[in-house]
Amino acid sequence: MKGSILVISGPSGSGKSTLMHEMMKRIDDTYFSISTTTREKREGEIEGKDYLYISKDEFRQGIEEGNFLEWARVHDNYYGTSLKPILKELNLGKMVVFDIDVQGHKIAKEKFGNIITSVFLTTPSQQVLKDRLIQRGTDSSESIEKRLNNAISEMTRVKEYNYILINDYFEKTLEDLISIAHASKNRVASLNTEQFISSWANM
Ligand code: ADP
Ligand code: 5GP
Repeated sequence: MKGSILVISGPSGSGKSTLMHEMMKRIDDTYFSISTTTREKREGEIEGKDYLYISKDEFRQGIEEGNFLEWARVHDNYYGTSLKPILKELNLGKMVVFDIDVQGHKIAKEKFGNIITSVFLTTPSQQVLKDRLIQRGTDSSESIEKRLNNAISEMTRVKEYNYILINDYFEKTLEDLISIAHASKNRVASLNTEQFISSWANM
């Protein structure tokens, strides 16, 4: 098999990073695409594990040098996916997991087409989203307001995704995400057909 890509998008605070990390512990041969961002590091986040944190000038330079598979401006900061590590992991046959916004998903789809499976994650309501952002305790009230406003416009793009998950009960959502991830690894588009048939015939 060649690699596959699993994209998870959804409003900030919907549970993407918590669910993704739990899902990846339970599935072999996965690789989390570490994005580069210009936003401040949150308490508890680790450089090189959650994000690579750089300045806006460095980010612009990265764009000029063509380092990003995709990039977008979200909540007044820049976020981007580096191309090189993704290609390397896909060549190793890994399932590469992206936590990117709706703009990034559109571009990734244009570039990688049918090896992408996409999931839109959200909460049962906007109020629940607000409660979770407050309870997470990592954002100022101004930043929470920005994230809640952005959530509405992100929700209007849900039709561009293969699956929607409403993250009410964590364990149930995790189970559903794991099922989708397993299925996404078996997409025919990820199959190296010639090699598969040749080894099948010679067994
Ligand atoms: P995102 O990565 O989408 O911004 P997080 O993974 O940081 O979201 O989750 C936001 C907050 O919601 C975290 O404090 C997380 O522990 C909590 N959370 C995630 N899923 C649930 C759930 N199903 N029920 C209650 N709290 C949740
Ligand atoms: P946060 O600041 O809450 O970590 O992320 C804010 C938003 O940026 C989320 O919607 C997240 O999915 C998105 N994001 C994170 N990394 C990338 C990236 O590399 N590219 C794009 N397009 N969006 C990203």
